Amino acid sequence: MAVARIALPVAVPHAFDYWIPDGLDVRRGSVVRVRLGHRSSVGVIVGVDATSLVTDRLQPIDEVVEGPPIAEEILDLAEFAGRYYQAAPGLALELAVPPAAKARSLRRRAAADAAPDARAAVALNPAQASAAGEIAGALGSFGAFMLRGVTGSGKTEVYLAAAKEAVARGGQVLMLMPEINLTPQFEQRIRIALPGAQAVTLHSALAAGARRANWDAAASGVAQIVVGTRLAVFTPLPGLALVVVDEEHDDSFKQQEGVRYHARDLAILRAQRRGVPVVLGSATPSLETWAGARAGRYRTLELPLRADPRAQPPAIGFVPVRGSRAQDGISTPLLDALAQRLARGEQSLLFVNRRGYAPSLKCASCTWESECPRCAARLVVHHGPDRLRCHHCAHVERLPRACPQCGNVDLTPLGFGTQRLEQAIRARFPQARVARVDRDTTARRGAFAKVRQQIEDLEVDILVGTQMLAKGHDFPRLTLVGVLGADNALYSADFRATERLVALLMQVAGRAGRADLPGQVIVQTDFPDHPVYRALATQDYGGFADELLAEREAAQLPPVTRVALLAAEAHSREDVDRFLASAVARAQALAGDAAGVEIFPPVPAAMARKAGFERGQVLVQSMQRSALQAFLARWREDLAASAGTKLRWSIDVDPVAF
Ligand SMILES: [Zn+2]
Ligand SMILES: [Zn+2]
Repeated sequence: MAVARIALPVAVPHAFDYWIPDGLDVRRGSVVRVRLGHRSSVGVIVGVDATSLVTDRLQPIDEVVEGPPIAEEILDLAEFAGRYYQAAPGLALELAVPPAAKARSLRRRAAADAAPDARAAVALNPAQASAAGEIAGALGSFGAFMLRGVTGSGKTEVYLAAAKEAVARGGQVLMLMPEINLTPQFEQRIRIALPGAQAVTLHSALAAGARRANWDAAASGVAQIVVGTRLAVFTPLPGLALVVVDEEHDDSFKQQEGVRYHARDLAILRAQRRGVPVVLGSATPSLETWAGARAGRYRTLELPLRADPRAQPPAIGFVPVRGSRAQDGISTPLLDALAQRLARGEQSLLFVNRRGYAPSLKCASCTWESECPRCAARLVVHHGPDRLRCHHCAHVERLPRACPQCGNVDLTPLGFGTQRLEQAIRARFPQARVARVDRDTTARRGAFAKVRQQIEDLEVDILVGTQMLAKGHDFPRLTLVGVLGADNALYSADFRATERLVALLMQVAGRAGRADLPGQVIVQTDFPDHPVYRALATQDYGGFADELLAEREAAQLPPVTRVALLAAEAHSREDVDRFLASAVARAQALAGDAAGVEIFPPVPAAMARKAGFERGQVLVQSMQRSALQAFLARWREDLAASAGTKLRWSIDVDPVAF
């Protein structure tokens, strides 16, 4: 009796044996339905054997869910993800299962079917043409490229030109990007650059039917261009010829729960195994990619100029916050610049990375400050309706009229969020049309697209918003960007905070000015000489990245070292402490054998309490990936045996924040 080993989506470190009924045509990769306890579950066959050690108690496979088995390449990739990211094999294999199997019959939503666009494909400038030529020249074998292009330099045109060549040779192209860049405008650009090619998108916002239809088009080889977010890295592509990771520095490529994979890193691995080139594009490459290029593992392609030769880089200036008699947090030079833009009929963006009215509420006569009862965090003041809200859990309460501690009615909102800025701008410029763009104003489906359209149609004069507006949006008449509150990130305990801040500020600054209208950026800061702001002012990301890399080397931090994080949370701090202390003891015993793995003492998480859970963590690191991997596999087994039911724990390999 033949037996199948099946990976099921449960958090156990092994597969399950089932017998294969006569006549059922299954093999490795087949997606099948079985009973697991009292439930019915879909799993993936990872192996077939003639016998099983547990034959007498085996259940049969109920049915085959999918026709053809999952491609070996995708199985390998998912199995690798499970091993490398220390996840249960069944959870990792689930990433390879085709989406929503039953929605197959729906009509394919092909980009090629949409209304044609009158605009012609743009001609490449010499730097773009040379970069595209290098990538196209590398088709047919593995090679990794770091494509570094300043904001507005036209990286997308390079991807599309290289993609065109790959498609012309009968290949498929996988393009991964952050969610926010997957706009209808982007799909339109693909259509213009590659008329006649079929392009499909894959991301979580798609309806199940459309997602399945697009997946089918990719898996069958019908779609030549597949554009998607991180989950798309597991899409079968029989003709894969080129992989592109746009905005490769973006943290959204890292999954933050379950199988904590990094789609950029898996994309590089996939390209290597498939023998095709991979392009990592960014204006501000991650230090991981930067180090790869510096070490000669990646070839560097540069786009030093904005694609439109008339466009100049924005003028960047700094104004102090302290002692500037700033009105409602906005300094006089910034107010003057806003007034100028209004008079000229140009648009402005005020960027502050905090939503709500004010980050906290404080009593003027005692020590009381609005704190979340369930998190180690301040409650944020929101108006309309007036509430105190936690941004880390669901906690909401009424805005108090008096101090809950001393009864004083003089309560002061501290700091500035988007709501407060919006209110201040409306009061200051009553004639201006103001729009606020943050998670609160765009929660409804279609709300973001609507405000985008209003900006494009010049129905908005001043935008107040968070980083939602920072990325991938081109507004030709937007000539002024004001940056507020960025200094807050300089104090972050996260060693990646400055890397992130530079990336964000360069992106925000890149919104200012296009073509014939020069841009201006005004940053409110009390530390204009900080390396982050120097890099912004000189637009010299390379120099900044080199310095940062030297610092990481001196401090023995990623990407120089390999790091994994054990995180634990429980209702009682004692449970967390006990678990982590025993985890460290076990790790030290193991690391005695596994040379070169360093174990740090347990510490509270950056947010020590969240949604009622006490949180702690242990960091382990090594200079060698393989040493760390070997250690983690054994440590994980130990931990699984020792953790009680009261505690949740996880291992995050190559964490993006800790
Ligand atoms: Zn008080
Ligand atoms: Zn909370």
